[in-house]
Amino acid sequence: MLAAVTKSPGVMMIDDLAEPEPPGPQDVIIRPEVVGICGSDLHVYSGDIGALSGARSFFPRVQGHEFSAVVEEAGEGCPDGLERGARVAVWPLHTCGHCYPCRAGRANACVSLELVGIHRDGGLQERLPVPASQVFGVGDLDSEPAAFIEPMSIAVHALGRAGIAAGQQVVILGAGPIGLATALAATAAGCRVMATDPLPARRDLALKVGAEDVAWGSDGDLLGAVHAWTGGEGPPTVIDTTGDPAALAQATRMVSSAGRVVVVGMSAAAAPLRPGVFPEKEIDVVGSSCATAADFRAGVRLVRAHRGSVAALFSHRFPLTRAREAIECVADPAAGAVKVLISLGGGEQ
Ligand SMILES: [Zn+2]
Ligand SMILES: [Zn+2]
Repeated sequence: MLAAVTKSPGVMMIDDLAEPEPPGPQDVIIRPEVVGICGSDLHVYSGDIGALSGARSFFPRVQGHEFSAVVEEAGEGCPDGLERGARVAVWPLHTCGHCYPCRAGRANACVSLELVGIHRDGGLQERLPVPASQVFGVGDLDSEPAAFIEPMSIAVHALGRAGIAAGQQVVILGAGPIGLATALAATAAGCRVMATDPLPARRDLALKVGAEDVAWGSDGDLLGAVHAWTGGEGPPTVIDTTGDPAALAQATRMVSSAGRVVVVGMSAAAAPLRPGVFPEKEIDVVGSSCATAADFRAGVRLVRAHRGSVAALFSHRFPLTRAREAIECVADPAAGAVKVLISLGGGEQ
């Protein structure tokens, strides 16, 4: 079976791998259909492991952690709904079950977290065994939007960390795929959203998925736009999806007193911050990592309900044999990529 294997930083090749063994109890063999590529994949591909939680050596690795698949074969004891041919999305987390975050019910922040497609082999191959507990049926959803459930679950988790309420104003820094998913999910939850991004095409997409307003400009311009939108108070919630260390300082300046900043974007770089702003405004600054199974289930519901808006985010499509070009497309600012998809071309059963 074919697989795109990242052999070492910057080196991805199409290989012929052995088929997986028949599934063990509670495991399923799945056939990936569509794989989304994101910034985390770029970090792995380029060997920039410092930017990823739980930095370990990744190579060689079959990448792909955002994907739809169909069940090929279910092992003994798998729950109903996972019969051959059922379309699923994969919640990619493996957790240890006994560290503090796992014991505290926050396994998404497990200290030994392993993600399918990052720490373990993922969706860029024609067959793959996964525990049945990690696959979620998506009903009649097509394979492309089903590949966006994983990024949507990241947005759901970030909004949970934000503690949003209907009617609340939320500013989202960055209108890449995670920022756009967050804008969609926040709007669906009844929030009013403003998104910021330097790229006009991304600002247009933010409006398309439900943002009420968008802005870009110098630091001062942005602060002015956000404060004008919130009647001078600043928003109670700012969600940083950029991965730009400068955005954290910007978020702490924007957010209202007693507000909350959620950091989703990942970066290995240091952030220039004035810590005095925390007590002065009594703000919370919290991180958001991956997503729980419950977030993933909410992601399935959101993508099913908003499949048309989600489809507008798919900018480029490549076959598996051109997986390397897909990753390079995400890396190339001139390509204007939003969500890049790799199709494994298996079609319906
Ligand atoms: Zn991702
Ligand atoms: Zn753990």
